[in-house]
Amino acid sequence: MSDCIFCKIRDGHVPARVVHRDELCFVLEDINPQAPTHLLVIPTEHIPTVNDLSVDHREVVGHLYLTAAKTARQRGIADSGYRLVMNTHRDAGQTVFHIHLHVLGGRPMEWPPG
Ligand code: 5GP
Repeated sequence: MSDCIFCKIRDGHVPARVVHRDELCFVLEDINPQAPTHLLVIPTEHIPTVNDLSVDHREVVGHLYLTAAKTARQRGIADSGYRLVMNTHRDAGQTVFHIHLHVLGGRPMEWPPG
């Protein structure tokens, strides 16, 4: 079995609050939320980092963003605003090496990020 936590959740081997699933992606409630709404939009395919994307991933990457926007509308944060973040490698703080789009909302946020 893969030792990737998101692959384990995808395959039902580790419990998680999965709020959406389709053939290209699934959406989880983050286990350690950093905002009132903190969801993770994760591709079904194991892709370690943004650096591993190729042109073949155009559809899935577009789908992650469309799913994030749809989920934000469903959660009622689309009009007030939200932040989409995809951390890449150490300096950005990536801890799970299976790409995921953080959807953060429900409170005002600062810029630049820490
Ligand atoms: P990263 O630091 O890689 O950008 O984000 C990884 C995110 O995954 C973190 O926000 C972390 O809280 C979340 N996370 C890590 N392990 C689990 C887990 O087992 N379940 C859920 N739902 N989220 C997790």
